[in-house]
Amino acid sequence: MSELRRQQNGDLIWFTSPQLSVYPRLKHAYFTRKGGVSSGIYESLNFRFTGTDSRDNLLQNYDIAARLVGGDVNHVIRTTQRHTDNIVTVSQPVTAFTNAGDGEAGVDALITNVPGAVLTGFYADCQLVMLYDHRHRACGVVHAGWRGIAQEIVRKTIEKMRDTYGCDPREMIAVVGPSICRSCFVTDDDVPDAMRDAFGGMVQEYMYRQDDKWCVDLKNITYAMLLRADIPAINIDISNYCPCCGDKTLWWSHRRLGENRGVHAGMICLTE
Ligand SMILES: [Zn+2]
Repeated sequence: MSELRRQQNGDLIWFTSPQLSVYPRLKHAYFTRKGGVSSGIYESLNFRFTGTDSRDNLLQNYDIAARLVGGDVNHVIRTTQRHTDNIVTVSQPVTAFTNAGDGEAGVDALITNVPGAVLTGFYADCQLVMLYDHRHRACGVVHAGWRGIAQEIVRKTIEKMRDTYGCDPREMIAVVGPSICRSCFVTDDDVPDAMRDAFGGMVQEYMYRQDDKWCVDLKNITYAMLLRADIPAINIDISNYCPCCGDKTLWWSHRRLGENRGVHAGMICLTE
């Protein structure tokens, strides 16, 4: 388990997983604020359609990012995140900018074995988890906030990759990107209650009292869940970076900024 590595090319700054970087036919990136064309509160690499940033800016940002992982804006298929456990299997080449499950209840995870499809998810405190099985040439991206974690969307995505592509969790790599830390994630009883309902007593050690609130260590809860899903500890990278208390010039945080912010993307793509 090791920290993500900072990468830079001109203005563009992104982070990569040491584990995933071993494989030349897989491209991936966790993007920061740096290197896009948007301005104001969206400066500069914003991917959020639900704010007031222009569609033209957004599509330019998607293109800048997608080119880094071997495609362009027309190869992007993106989650429509609504804290669900809905997973979409991308089984056809992507030839136009696509919202997965558009108009439906929302899609929070994507999986594929199709080269060239740029799977794209988003984060601004929530966890963006990337999954990869080299032997079966399949990858996935999962958006997991506390609601998604409580719905076990990461385990369900691993199981979907097993059932769809024959993946073996013991050979899979899992990466948890920059996401809110236990000091910043101060909650009421609803979050600990949901964690206990989902995982039982094993999560108790990852939650502690602070005055009349709780601090919940979602990174370690996901780590424990990945181990329980049979992903070997040595195959897991979890970033210690926290968008909320980390470098404000790099990160947007929902907790720190509310809705006055952009959103970060993570992209993963199998190359030809
Ligand atoms: Zn923090």
